[in-house]
Amino acid sequence: MAITAVGSIALDTITTSAGRAEGVLGGSLTYFSLAASLFAPVHIVAVIGDDFPARHLELFRARPLHLDGLEHAAGGKTFRWHGRYSDDFATRTTLALELNVFQTFHPKLPDAARRQPYLFLGNIDPDLQLGVFAQMERPAFVVSDTMDHWIRHKRQQIVTLLPRVHTFLLNDEEARLLTQETDVEVAARAIVGAGADCVIVKCGADGSLLATPDGITRMPAFRVADLTDPTGAGDSFAGGLLGYLAARRTHDHRTLLQAILHGAAVSSFCVSRVGVEGLTTLTRAHVEARVQQLESAYEPIT
Ligand code: AMP
Repeated sequence: MAITAVGSIALDTITTSAGRAEGVLGGSLTYFSLAASLFAPVHIVAVIGDDFPARHLELFRARPLHLDGLEHAAGGKTFRWHGRYSDDFATRTTLALELNVFQTFHPKLPDAARRQPYLFLGNIDPDLQLGVFAQMERPAFVVSDTMDHWIRHKRQQIVTLLPRVHTFLLNDEEARLLTQETDVEVAARAIVGAGADCVIVKCGADGSLLATPDGITRMPAFRVADLTDPTGAGDSFAGGLLGYLAARRTHDHRTLLQAILHGAAVSSFCVSRVGVEGLTTLTRAHVEARVQQLESAYEPIT
């Protein structure tokens, strides 16, 4: 079973206390797709500009990614983001955000992409997320992600999207920002109350919290000793999660908990290297080994 996914493809500059990586491959869709394609094929919906290096396209072509929905906007510049992490990685500041080709992007899904049962609405302008959702024929399972920038600027569109998604992903700070609640569990319940079937709040090294109308389950993170660059943690988590569900072709509660462990395992590899490096050499076997470690150390708390 394949996934259709929309999000950003970016050239990122990432600053940490260890140094600066300039113009590296990034974007929410990139991290998602590299992670999800370990488990299932992905139909990509995004836009790039003239400056997008051919070697990145080669990386995409080497994976089970369908690129018919990847638009090349001639004469335009690829989306760029520059983020800086605090020395302890606890906070991230966006220093620059250039939408570039995304400013005029109107996604038009190829027929094959419209027909897929799994849909990922990655972190991108919620108007574009709604536009992609509207073009899907009958998606069986929709996961959507967002970030503080869009909660601040396009809150109403996010609220409109909520009843249409099965799983809404966001981090603890974003959950507080969206609901104005300080307690993450209260915030998660409020988002479920607003219409999403379930909400997963990512709490970094403290794991994640799954909220459904039946209650809340806390799930673990795999704590890495060599945290190097948290960029893409959330998107690679989403990729591991939805990739696993698409491969299993079911999304009952038990499978969803397994999918969360797969997301946690994939993102732990992502954050150990700079940019997408931690995902490019990753195999399914590495992920399964880490899922087993998580399982043996943990009983979900409901
Ligand atoms: P994450 O660390 O999972 O939040 O994802 C980081 C990625 O999101 C980076 O590679 C950025 O290129 C991308 N990104 C940052 N800001 C935005 C934005 N406002 N819209 C879309 N993508 C963004």
